[in-house]
Amino acid sequence: MAAEFSYHGDALFCEHVPLDQIANEYGTPAYVYSKAAIRSRFHQYEDALAGLPHRVCYAVKANSNLAVLATLAAEGAGFDIVSGGELYRVLAAGGDPSSVVFSGVGKTAAEIRYALEQNIHSFNCESETEIELISTIAASSGQTACIAIRVNPDVDAVTHPYISTGLREHKFGIDIARAEEIYARVARLPGIEVNGVSCHIGSQLLSVEPLLEAADKVLALVQRLRGAGLTIRDLDLGGGLGVPYRSEERRVPVDTFIQRLRGKLQDSNLTLMLEPGRSIVAEAGVLLSRVLLVKTNDDKTFVIVDAAMNDLIRPALYQAHHEILPARRVKGPVQPVKADVVGPVCESGDFFARGRDLPPLAPGDLVAIKTAGAYGFVLASNYNSRPRPCELLVDGARIHVARRRETFPDLIRGESSATGAASGIKQTECEHDQSPCDICTGSS
Ligand SMILES: *Cc1c(COP(=O)(O)O)cnc(C)c1O
Repeated sequence: MAAEFSYHGDALFCEHVPLDQIANEYGTPAYVYSKAAIRSRFHQYEDALAGLPHRVCYAVKANSNLAVLATLAAEGAGFDIVSGGELYRVLAAGGDPSSVVFSGVGKTAAEIRYALEQNIHSFNCESETEIELISTIAASSGQTACIAIRVNPDVDAVTHPYISTGLREHKFGIDIARAEEIYARVARLPGIEVNGVSCHIGSQLLSVEPLLEAADKVLALVQRLRGAGLTIRDLDLGGGLGVPYRSEERRVPVDTFIQRLRGKLQDSNLTLMLEPGRSIVAEAGVLLSRVLLVKTNDDKTFVIVDAAMNDLIRPALYQAHHEILPARRVKGPVQPVKADVVGPVCESGDFFARGRDLPPLAPGDLVAIKTAGAYGFVLASNYNSRPRPCELLVDGARIHVARRRETFPDLIRGESSATGAASGIKQTECEHDQSPCDICTGSS
């Protein structure tokens, strides 16, 4: 967790704001982000890369809230997108399209057209078929699309299997052994300008060795491609640096990673592109939740909180660990209680911690589920018809509502009953923070 979340006295703060004040004003569950933490993580990359031609393209999918994107755009970040919707968000946040790279294994014709209209920097392509489609679309509108091919360097990223992407058996990229032949072929296509090589081997990497191994393989490919007469300007090594989710895990030092890359890139005449997502935003966010009740079945204790797997699915999806801190520390020595922290959703997979030693918690207490700034809200759903939480961006002593809490009317927006049954409730836009809101549900 970033230093921006720390205890002052007994109270856990985000920057200058105590989390219990946030809960009282905005309700729970709530995602709370620190603007200073987002900035400082981005600048770790920028500072380490100083003097090296580079572009840090924040991976939008990690946290795509407009306020987060605008914060990074203001610091000069580029963006790595994986859909037309993400491009729309980047533009809405004031991001510069000429700093956007478009990744992803299945881009639609409409998405390609949109990206070309907006003049993005380049497409990271994952198949010949995709490049042929981009060529057809670009050539028919008299445009030129800059492309890099995402190669699969066949290195083992040593992470959770769902977020490892760099082995030959994965759906991602083009086998590096076939890359030269494909580069030679697509370089001749109309509307295509071959510009770079890219790779992305996985996420939550806690060692930089696989990334450096991939860099060596991709650099060797660049040499061969240049030898064959192709112009290669960009080397995109993707994202993937991990963050410590457990207190005993160590942070992967961004600066030593970059220093080691710097040695390899000296005099290469390449622009180094990186696409970090998690390592910029994960530690900059917590999910704030209130204890509903504590219950014991046999000898097991369950702390039931008002956040659930629909709000933060990482424990259920990736067996992810998140530290849980009380928003108010108990004074003096406490006997920890071994408990499962679970949400109200009707699934046994709805848990945040199992058999965890926690300080004694009582109904009404607040807990902060740490390191929730990446792959948190973006993966939230309305499962069990739960309105999604609000997202708040703290900047010093200011709290900015980056996304208002959803209301019951939000849940059925866009739906209609085929029977035309009269609805007993007004489907109006609600700006109220309470769910259920008496005003929106018409009960007032
Ligand atoms: C997900 C993804 C990233 C970001 O990965 P992190 O682990 O969040 O840094 C970067 N590039 C591509 C192509 C991705 O799919």
